[in-house]
Amino acid sequence: GNSARVQAINEITKRVPMSVEMPDTLKSIWACDVFNLATMEDSLSKKAFKAIKNTVQTGAALDPATADVVAAAMKDWAMSKGVKFFSHIFYPMTNATAEKHDGFIITNADGAAITEFTGSLLIKGEPDGSSFPNGSLRMTNAARGYTAWDPTSPAYIMETDNGATLMIPSVFMSWTGEALDKKIPLLRSNCAMNEAAQKVLSLMGETEIATLNSSCGAEQEYFLVDALFANARPDLLLAGRTLFGAAPAKGQEFDDHYFGAIPERVQVFMQDFENKLYRLGIPAKTHHNEVAPGQFEIAPYFESANVASDHQQLMMTILKVTAKQHGFMCLLHEKPFAGVNGSGKHVNWSVGNATQGNLLDPGNTPNENLNFLLFCGAVIRGVHTYGPLLRAVIATASNDHRLGANEAPPAIISVYLGDQLEKLFLDIKEGKLEATASGGLMDLGLDQILKFERDPGDRNRTSPFAFTGNRFEFRAVGSSQSVSGPLVAMNTILADSLEWVADQLEKALSTDSNQVLAVITVLKKLMDEHGNVVFGGDGYSSEWHTKAVEERGLKNLPTSADALPYLRDPSIVELFESTGVLTPVELKSRFDVYAEQYILSIEVEAKLVIDMAKTTIYPTAMSYLSDLLAVVSEGSGLGITVDASTAKTIAEESNAMMTAVAELSDALAQHDFDSTDAHMNHCAFTIRPLMDKIREHGDLLECEIADELWPLPKYREMLFIK
Ligand code: ADP
Ligand code: MG
Repeated sequence: GNSARVQAINEITKRVPMSVEMPDTLKSIWACDVFNLATMEDSLSKKAFKAIKNTVQTGAALDPATADVVAAAMKDWAMSKGVKFFSHIFYPMTNATAEKHDGFIITNADGAAITEFTGSLLIKGEPDGSSFPNGSLRMTNAARGYTAWDPTSPAYIMETDNGATLMIPSVFMSWTGEALDKKIPLLRSNCAMNEAAQKVLSLMGETEIATLNSSCGAEQEYFLVDALFANARPDLLLAGRTLFGAAPAKGQEFDDHYFGAIPERVQVFMQDFENKLYRLGIPAKTHHNEVAPGQFEIAPYFESANVASDHQQLMMTILKVTAKQHGFMCLLHEKPFAGVNGSGKHVNWSVGNATQGNLLDPGNTPNENLNFLLFCGAVIRGVHTYGPLLRAVIATASNDHRLGANEAPPAIISVYLGDQLEKLFLDIKEGKLEATASGGLMDLGLDQILKFERDPGDRNRTSPFAFTGNRFEFRAVGSSQSVSGPLVAMNTILADSLEWVADQLEKALSTDSNQVLAVITVLKKLMDEHGNVVFGGDGYSSEWHTKAVEERGLKNLPTSADALPYLRDPSIVELFESTGVLTPVELKSRFDVYAEQYILSIEVEAKLVIDMAKTTIYPTAMSYLSDLLAVVSEGSGLGITVDASTAKTIAEESNAMMTAVAELSDALAQHDFDSTDAHMNHCAFTIRPLMDKIREHGDLLECEIADELWPLPKYREMLFIK
């Protein structure tokens, strides 16, 4: 055959790894394209540097005079590196990254070019509109909005279509000050968490308490597929996942003679990718793991949540761009291949500061451990009270394929603590720490707490939300998602819970001056009310699915259509309003955007399924069928009986597929929905099952039709990157 698929296979065998320039040392490139504190210290006056450093470390406002000085230094630094443009980069509600480009050069009244970049230009981008001189504006949000510099995330230089551009991390808001992005709520959630944490720590007798910040280290999984294969698959190009494709035959050895050059190409790709990250000061360490063939992982060391979130977005961009340069397509989709492990993003998260350290790290002293237990307890309460919120912030059309399937965390949100810590909390719940009250109590209590070891070691991979020694790991997050939403949710539920802890602690301390007893009292109440969310068993098992709902009272929300409406739940509206993270209007706009995205992405996929079934699979089936029928009838003319069962199967499967295509077309034509919820339900429970049905027939046809006629690259070919 001469199909794109066969051509791709031929071309790929000839590919050679791209040549990549390697730096002499890591140090010679580390953060060289970042305008960070070290760079600022070199170029600013002592006074200006002190002011900007304070802003970076505490989030305090920056005065206009300093902003001017910083802007000038930033411009000089960037221009000395050949940069001519600057861009406010921001993060709209869609998981995307958006940029507004502008030039440093303006013309003055005499027509001479001068370069201008003032504090006010740095701080505030112009409103979206038509006022951009270089015309490379990319609008992603119809709302008229302003961008504003976020001085707590460093500016950096990127190669873009415009040439080297100074990128200025920014927030994005409406002219009335409403958050239109994913950064503002993250910054606000951090403030709320800090405020509540301060209360708890002061009640615990801490005197010096620095600003608390949340931290994030996100492990990113992704697939690499050769670009020639991807280009021959409309589904990969348009939906980022395969909408058809039969599983490779069981036990089949992939024919590796096609792809001998690929492992080396992947190695070179990773080196190139890492170099780019290092230049941007992103502390990456790649893992070359192969959970599924063709699947890889990158995990940077953790940073403050705000910076980590910006870096995560940047990493996804660089992954895609670099893959393209190396002749790959990088798939960030949660489930690019049916029946093959999907991709997630494990969001490791903790909170801490310079004076008390990591509050989710069991410490060495009784006091540190009491703080740890209170913060850990607060997380337990938060996850129990707002489980549906955690499910809602990871609810996307693509992540639904992964959650609840037998390889990823279930759609039931529970907390895994590890054997030791779970036992400790259960002992508290059952009053075992109180029971020995006469004198021995204190010792026993402290002893037990002190005995607590750092790393539980036994990792439960089936839990969506796990304690992993000194942090929590939210494992149900989707690989293509911004980490900001999950971080906002975690910070906000923690803020709410720490407020509760502070109230309870205050009460307990007023009746019992013994701090240990007061903490145990609070934790016992907490575990009585919220202990049901703690689960150390197998999260994939069907027993858990039943038990979680029937005995524990937890919610099982398998689809986004089930989960997203919780964003309108009064308790969640109240949570965001009371913590000052999102106003009811801001929260509502998020529900609207996420629901619309969910509906849109399913409808786009459904149209593509119809298109591929009709214009690619059906014609291929008919052409093979006509060959078979010709042989059958020629044979019978000569008195030779040719078995017609394959022809029959192909005819039947093709007919059934086209019947389902007609049903899906009808379902897609339906437009009169009473509510967004009804529309989402239609997508989840009518459109999706019909897509699956069509696929089933299509995949059966793939297994019947002569290999050389099949036009779409097959799973065994696309996945064979090892
Ligand atoms: P594993 O695969 O066992 O989960 P990894 O080493 O791949 O572990 O990833 C762990 C991630 O957790 C890394 O990104 C690491 O930087 C991050 N991490 C470690 N400590 C913290 C912390 N205190 N806060 C947030 N993230 C953390
Ligand atoms: Mg992990």
